[in-house]
Amino acid sequence: MDGPHVDRSHLDVAGVMRSPVARVWVLTAAAGAVALALTLRFITGLTGASAFELSPWLLLVAFAMAEAYPIHVEHRREAISFSLSAIPLAIGLFTVDPMPLLAAAVLGSTIALAVTRHQAPFKIFLNTSQLWLSTVVALVVFHVLGGASEPGLATWPAAFAATVVADAVQAAVVTTAISLYQGRWEVESWQAAAFVATAVNTAVGVAAVVLLGVEPFGVVLLGVVVVVLLFSYRALNALRDRHGDLERLFDFTGAMGVAGLGDRVVATVLEKVGELMHSERAWLYLGDADGDVRRVELVDGELRTTDVERVGADARLHAVALRAGEAVLLPGADVAAGVDTLDRLGVSEAMATPLLGSSSVVGVLVVAERSGEVRPFAAHDLRLFGTVANHAGVSLENHRLFDGLRDQAALNAHQALHDALTGLPNRAMFTERLAETLDRDIPVAVLLLDLDRFKEVNDALGHHHGDELLQDVAGRLGSALRGGDLVARLGGDEFAVLLPGVAAVDAAVDRARALVAVLERPFAVADVSVSVEASVGVVVAPRHGTDASTLMQRADVALYDAKAYQSGVESYDASRDSHTAGRLALVAELQAAIAAGDLDVHFQPQLRLATGAVEGVEALVRWTHPVRGPIPPDEFVPVAEQTGLIRPLTLHVLERALSHVANWRTEGHALRVSVNLSARSLLQETLADDVAELLARTGVPADALCLEITETSLMAHPGRTLATLERLRAVGVSLAIDDFGTGYSSLAHLKRLPVQEIKVDKSFVCSMLDDASDEAIVRSVIELARNLGIRVVAEGVEDQTVAAALARAGCHLGQGYLFSKPVPAVRFGGWLRSRSRGETDAKVVSLRPSIAG
Ligand code: C2E
Ligand code: CA
Ligand code: CA
Repeated sequence: MDGPHVDRSHLDVAGVMRSPVARVWVLTAAAGAVALALTLRFITGLTGASAFELSPWLLLVAFAMAEAYPIHVEHRREAISFSLSAIPLAIGLFTVDPMPLLAAAVLGSTIALAVTRHQAPFKIFLNTSQLWLSTVVALVVFHVLGGASEPGLATWPAAFAATVVADAVQAAVVTTAISLYQGRWEVESWQAAAFVATAVNTAVGVAAVVLLGVEPFGVVLLGVVVVVLLFSYRALNALRDRHGDLERLFDFTGAMGVAGLGDRVVATVLEKVGELMHSERAWLYLGDADGDVRRVELVDGELRTTDVERVGADARLHAVALRAGEAVLLPGADVAAGVDTLDRLGVSEAMATPLLGSSSVVGVLVVAERSGEVRPFAAHDLRLFGTVANHAGVSLENHRLFDGLRDQAALNAHQALHDALTGLPNRAMFTERLAETLDRDIPVAVLLLDLDRFKEVNDALGHHHGDELLQDVAGRLGSALRGGDLVARLGGDEFAVLLPGVAAVDAAVDRARALVAVLERPFAVADVSVSVEASVGVVVAPRHGTDASTLMQRADVALYDAKAYQSGVESYDASRDSHTAGRLALVAELQAAIAAGDLDVHFQPQLRLATGAVEGVEALVRWTHPVRGPIPPDEFVPVAEQTGLIRPLTLHVLERALSHVANWRTEGHALRVSVNLSARSLLQETLADDVAELLARTGVPADALCLEITETSLMAHPGRTLATLERLRAVGVSLAIDDFGTGYSSLAHLKRLPVQEIKVDKSFVCSMLDDASDEAIVRSVIELARNLGIRVVAEGVEDQTVAAALARAGCHLGQGYLFSKPVPAVRFGGWLRSRSRGETDAKVVSLRPSIAG
């Protein structure tokens, strides 16, 4: 440090006054001295209180309680606390002798501050002298104004004057202390509110005194009223907080839209995110093409960019967020490492999140130090932060951050596909390469390799050396490969090797044994020599499977066998795989059911929330297995997807749905029908033609069909999927994004997709009334969709209050058990007819805005 040098041989007054804490100590001493002088001069000579005597001990407890349970208000980045101590002070002025009252106030408050609020010593001393001074002043004012002379109405003003003046003294001392601490004068705007609070508290205290004189038990009633008021105040405050967050979320989205270009966007993101998350600091990490990371922070309104060391705490935080792939709270599960990282960054808590653009990672956003002492970052802050980051990521990307953005995208693509510790490809890249190889009909072997007893090494030598060992293992595996092979780290101590061109099980097993042998030579870690054993599961394509997920799952089964038999290497053996037999039977039965038309389709209505009119219906497939009974679609639809049965399944559901809707439409119900598409269907070239053909056959107009695609399947193969969506749009059907909110896509991304509807996922809708961040998500989805001219459907509407809240938020349509469960076509038809005869049930009618209020 090259700051000013303090010569320790003599007292350097100017030097001491440069330290903020020292300046506060001086103020403390001054206030204490004045308080002492006033006490000796006035208080010792004062005569007793005018009303009846109350025990000073009782008051001591009351002061301690008032100080221990202050009322918190958060305003922007400030946390303000009020205490209720004016209540015992007002009571004490009338009922306790001056000296005991002074002692009770100072002692009670100090004990509370020291014990329950864990304040630093210099703060406790400051507060003690400040309390002493203000209480003395209150006593003097009270007695000078004749408060102690005669009981009754005439003395009340003296009590109010005393508490308010005491408050002013307190405010003056605290403001001076804060200004001295910060080195600049700062007048707080909230002090007017504190005076109002004090006046109210005094009124409560005076009322208590009056009651004590008339009917002491009346104080209990007063207590009840105060407690109820406090609770409603708290509830109100929580509500205000929530509204504040939402307001700022909209404000944020709006600000992003008009932020202009380049640095302005970054500055706006940092400023608004800091405000929204109540955090004192916010910064951004941006990587460049050389793998260097820069840190961008807003300092006094200016952006400041610093280069980040490759191995420092910044680099670690950056890596943690990228690895998590979502917003994380620090210190996280690994507390020691988290605390160490934060310490080095000079903060005590932080949230970090990767900023995902529509196609790449833009950077990492960090907020740190929640303002005020009221509470640390909590789970719902983390979710809000994640949502905000979604907006920010896309805005930053859209605004073409820096010139080198494209280089950076390349780097980030690298980071997204590689493991940070070893630099090897990660699981995502491995499965992608495997799928590519399979697509090109090249035979391929997959080896799944897991180190034996790695955990013991890790525990014995420490995480740091465990990491080193993994890096060395990665190096050796890499050196044992041939051109075209690929080794990846899947996570922990699990690696995978891709061997294109290897079709024979024996050849693959030989290669696996060679890899195990390569690892047998001891590793030098932490000056000890460690030998590593590994187990390997082997599969080859096409023999053991023709798609990536089947192969990976079977390699896992083989690896499990290798571990169980301690045999080192095992290839996949179907007879040992318990999943397979049952699953194969299921596939055959499903195929037969589809062919025989045994799959049923149920229908669930979608209602316009503002009017209760039925506008649409979702078709949901149902299968009742002859032996196992009803099987949920979540179970058999994936099976169909993996086995090529999805096309006949989808066509069957489409055909049923369209022909029923055609009937209902001829009966005069102008319904739209929604049918679910799976990710796999979107890769089929023939889909658009199939749909067009079915529409023509059933006579349903194209715009009365809506196809639902889940958010995650849109992200899986963006290129090919988009081509199919364009073709479907050309046919004239509308498209919906299903389960919106569960994937990583951002709202702004929507603009680029040809969709006309989004369905907010039921997990958010169900809990929107209990969970502020779910509510924030639902509301911002609705708001943004409306701005983009997209229809919003809330699914999972189970009760009336949720429906009313959604209607108020502007959500167009609702679907859920509240209105109807999915029912067979016959029952749905009956339901429609009875409604149009006016047998509308009450819950739907009450949705009309006039009644919902
Ligand atoms: P999804 O498309 O999100 O369908 C909505 C699911 O929510 C349905 O489950 C429905 O019964 C359920 N649901 C409706 N209202 C409520 C409610 O108020 N509360 C709750 N908790 N749930 C409600 P289901 O029928 O079990 O379908 C599950 C999933 O299976 C569907 O989710 C969809 O992804 C898939 N699926 C269903 N039919 C088909 C189909 O024909 N083709 C394809 N590819 N997938 C289908
Ligand atoms: Ca759906
Ligand atoms: Ca859904």
